[in-house]
Amino acid sequence: MVNADISLTIGVLALQGAFSEHLQLLKKAALALPSNITFRFLEIRTADALATCDALIIPGGESTTMSLVAERSNLLEPLREFVKVYRKPVWGTCAGMILLAEEANRTKKGGQELIGGLDVRVRRNHFGSQTESFSTPLSLPFLEDSAPFYGFFIRAPIVEQVLPPTTLESSLENNTTETITAPSKNPINAVAASFTSPDEVKILGRLPPSKLTTTQEDSNLGVNPAEGRIVAVEQGNCFGTSFHPELGSDIRIHKWWLEKVLEKVEMKRRLETES
Ligand code: GLN
Repeated sequence: MVNADISLTIGVLALQGAFSEHLQLLKKAALALPSNITFRFLEIRTADALATCDALIIPGGESTTMSLVAERSNLLEPLREFVKVYRKPVWGTCAGMILLAEEANRTKKGGQELIGGLDVRVRRNHFGSQTESFSTPLSLPFLEDSAPFYGFFIRAPIVEQVLPPTTLESSLENNTTETITAPSKNPINAVAASFTSPDEVKILGRLPPSKLTTTQEDSNLGVNPAEGRIVAVEQGNCFGTSFHPELGSDIRIHKWWLEKVLEKVEMKRRLETES
């Protein structure tokens, strides 16, 4: 329960993709939270703007383009610091989740960098092209209200595997040649290179098993057809969803995430005043 007034600055990375939809839903979700919390919602395009944020959403769009623009805007390393050094809350949706993954498959050759933060390997465009996009009711037990949540999957990735918190060698055993890794598992890239998350990856949502599309890669990985594909994960400060909650009008995930952010920021501020 929140007592004192508190203000939070929430950024949405606005380099490409569905950032304005997130901002709209964040504003709606904020209205459902106690009035002693003052929110400032910002479109983020520079490292200076990022530095003012308590938390960040990385939207869906095109992860290759987003990573290129981030690199050109000198935002890649500040983003990595935000996630892995300052460990501020970050939510990646679809392309955003790809960028937060430590490993990604089916990437464009030489064309993509990852931020990292989630010890998972994602498979891009798992369901195929734009025409194979779909929306489906999801059961998301982490939400208070258990009514199904309609997830929009647009050239969506899935979490192919939760990675053991180990070394590059073991995590690369089962992947394909197109797999790329975030710098924490690649010592050439320095910032946050020593990062290992102290937290476990929690699986927060799966597709119904009927939506399982099995490939040769899946049989190599021993995917169990009775279990649905992983489409929502959380690890410490990082949260990722394969789907786009911002394209509907259901505010529940945005509200849940803002409550998490509030909890984490309050705890951090309390620790800072105590020390
Ligand atoms: N397929 C896109 C990518 O790899 C993600 C699609 C999306 O964000 N809707 O970046």
